[in-house]
Amino acid sequence: MTAARLTLDLDALARNYAVLRDMAGVEAAPAIKADGYGVGALEAGLRLWREGARSFHVARLTEGEALRVALGDRPARIHVLDGPTPGSRDRLIDAELTPVINSLDQAAAWDGPAAIHIDTGMNRLGLTLAEARGLAGRPNVVLLMSHLACAGKPDHPMNALQLARFREARALFPEARASLASSGGIFLGRDYCFDQVRPGISLFGGGPHDRPDGRISAVATLEAEILQLRRVPAGETIGYGGVFTAERELTVAILAAGYADGVPWSACPKGQVWFEGARRRMVGRVSMDMIAVDLTGCETATPGALVEILGPNLPVDEAAAAAGTTAYELLTRLSTRAERFWRGAA
Ligand SMILES: *Cc1c(COP(=O)(O)O)cnc(C)c1O
Repeated sequence: MTAARLTLDLDALARNYAVLRDMAGVEAAPAIKADGYGVGALEAGLRLWREGARSFHVARLTEGEALRVALGDRPARIHVLDGPTPGSRDRLIDAELTPVINSLDQAAAWDGPAAIHIDTGMNRLGLTLAEARGLAGRPNVVLLMSHLACAGKPDHPMNALQLARFREARALFPEARASLASSGGIFLGRDYCFDQVRPGISLFGGGPHDRPDGRISAVATLEAEILQLRRVPAGETIGYGGVFTAERELTVAILAAGYADGVPWSACPKGQVWFEGARRRMVGRVSMDMIAVDLTGCETATPGALVEILGPNLPVDEAAAAAGTTAYELLTRLSTRAERFWRGAA
């Protein structure tokens, strides 16, 4: 009896964590930025601690502070990927966060324990190899890391190139633990896993290579209630803009979830839902609060019945592809309006 419901399965999260850790064969330090990919960073962090995670990665200072509060006196290492940004020093120290140094300016601004980020080809954040040479021998470097640009594409030549460059960088910091692989990198094989892997999306149900993978379980399930059923005669249009025309008489269900609940506006025209054991099409534009779906012939369609929009039967990668986006964006845009339910303990 709740219009749109988002069920977050922490037992599935724990299973995914075990799969990724065992596959890597080394420490797995979860990346739980952006509120744990929309799933809930604090709940995810607590559960992953129970599963054995002792290091975490977040993007922002504020995310690190919130995770520190949630973890209480558990001595987790929390890396802040943005690094020691101007004005953040005291707060990083107060929350006992480990910043990731991305530039020589950041290296100069921070003298505590730190990770060093080497840019091996992504040209986003990180020191060049030449810059890193100047920092060789620096004390308190606990982690040397880099990030793969094309880990989602196993055959991409960038992967091997970045691996070779990372090995070079590693020789400069022999004391530091080394970390290169995110989710996609773990599936590239153990050559990429070094001392620590940093899985994000595959912890939260996304396949490593932008498509579903049988070893990874769905964590987020978005369902919506049917508000109303209507018979739409052939030739009539449905929803804003009249962009969909019924090609024959249809039974259409109006669901209580729209783009304000995280169903992308771009899910029209390819989006699907799952009901009575099969995929059914979305028809017409996604509204803020509603979508229309074709449930012609479904016998149990009735106001109040729940329809799956995302979940075990509609993998996040497929729902994202239908909407022209990625699992990352889809998950991080799950809104707070849908009522949240938890499966499994934090
Ligand atoms: C987001 C992020 C990760 C996690 O990547 P996934 O593809 O979600 O597994 C790891 N490392 C860095 C630096 C990141 O920004």
